[in-house]
Order: sequence, then C-alpha cells, then structure tokens
Amino acid sequence: MSLQSFCLSCNRSTNQTVRKEFEVLYQENEGHWWDKTIYQIIECGGCSETTFRKLYTDVAMQGPPEQEVYYKVDLYPERDSNSLKAKPSRYVPSRISELYSETIATYNSNSPILCIAGIRAIIEAICKDRNIKGGNLHFRDGSPKRKSSSLPGKIYGLMEEGYLTEGNVEILLHLRFLGNEALHNLSRPSKEELKLAIEILDHVIDNIYVINRLGEELKRKGMTRGGHGK
Ligand SMILES: [Zn+2]
Repeated sequence: MSLQSFCLSCNRSTNQTVRKEFEVLYQENEGHWWDKTIYQIIECGGCSETTFRKLYTDVAMQGPPEQEVYYKVDLYPERDSNSLKAKPSRYVPSRISELYSETIATYNSNSPILCIAGIRAIIEAICKDRNIKGGNLHFRDGSPKRKSSSLPGKIYGLMEEGYLTEGNVEILLHLRFLGNEALHNLSRPSKEELKLAIEILDHVIDNIYVINRLGEELKRKGMTRGGHGK
C-alpha cells in the first residue's frame, strides 16, 4: 500500500510505502462507542527514510455514511513543511549535538519557550567548550564597551574569537530572547525568529567544528602526500 506524506529529508510530500501496519479496534456499549487506531511504519520512495504514522478515528468523528472515514494523522518524528532537520555531524561534541537535536525537536513540535531555552543552552555550551567566558558589550549610544559574562557578552565573545560576524551578532541580539536576560519575562517569539537564531547557530557550529576539522584533515592528507601543490 502506498500513500503521500511529508518527508523531512526530501523536504516535500513524497510517495511512501507502508512496510508494516496493524490496527486496534475498541468497542463498548454494544457498539455505541468505537474507536480505531492504525499504526504504520512508512518508507519514503525518494530517500528511503523510514518513519512512523498513526491514524485515529472514532464514532464521534464520523460524517454521513456516504462520506469517507476521517482520520486524525500523526507523524513521528513530528514534521511538516516548516520543520527543521537536525544535521548530524561526527565532528560536533556530543553535548552540543544533543542540545542541538533537542532544540530542533522543540522547534518542530511548536514549543517556543523550550526552544529558546535550547538556543541559549547551545550558545552557553559552545562558549564553555571554546573557553569563552564573556566579551565586550557594544552600546548604540556610543558609551564605552563593557566586559560582561552575560549571554549577550558571550555572543560578543564569539565574535571576538572570529566565530560570528558583526552582522550576525546584531541579528542575534536584536532577538529579544537572546538580548534579554530573564527567560520568564519573555513574550512568545515567532517561528521565524527562532528559525533565524537556529540558522545562525548552524553556521557557528559549522565554522567551529566542521569546516575547521575538514580543513585539518585536508592539510594532513596533503602532508602525507608530500605537500602537493604550493
Ligand atoms: Zn524522503
């Protein structure tokens, strides 16, 4: 059996094959109440990614007999066209990649406050790993820079170490949930704001862990070949 469903790897709706499924039917009150749950393991025809799909319906959800049965559909991992995909990399320290995938999961499940906490925790973890204890806060009104170990201070610290551009620091600190210290005072951020912060962190993680390591590997290979090309 095949169906259409959203695939996060392909980033579009694709043809999916049901590899396994089973159905649980529950009835009581001599058939006056029934509900049905169908569990499916589905495989994307585009990239072979295998995920889980759950369909639920009950007597209260039914329309007139001639109408098709309506099912509530849940996908696991949760996803739709606005979802982000965690990019795994063997070069990223496990503490940071765990925080990163959990943060993506909170983003995809529409839990903005937890997502903010995750984004802040990733910044803290990167700074700890790189031994960045803070940085110099800049002020728009021209008052002198001041050293700070707050989260904004650490964001400037990442810039001072060359891991963030000045433009990206401005964008990050413009997001109230990073410029402002108290998590409990925050208004709900938009998905666009969270996505922007995650995308900037993607670049920071790539810069620090992935590109540097790939560069080192290339250099090492070049040296073992006896330094081809100048
Ligand atoms: Zn796919």
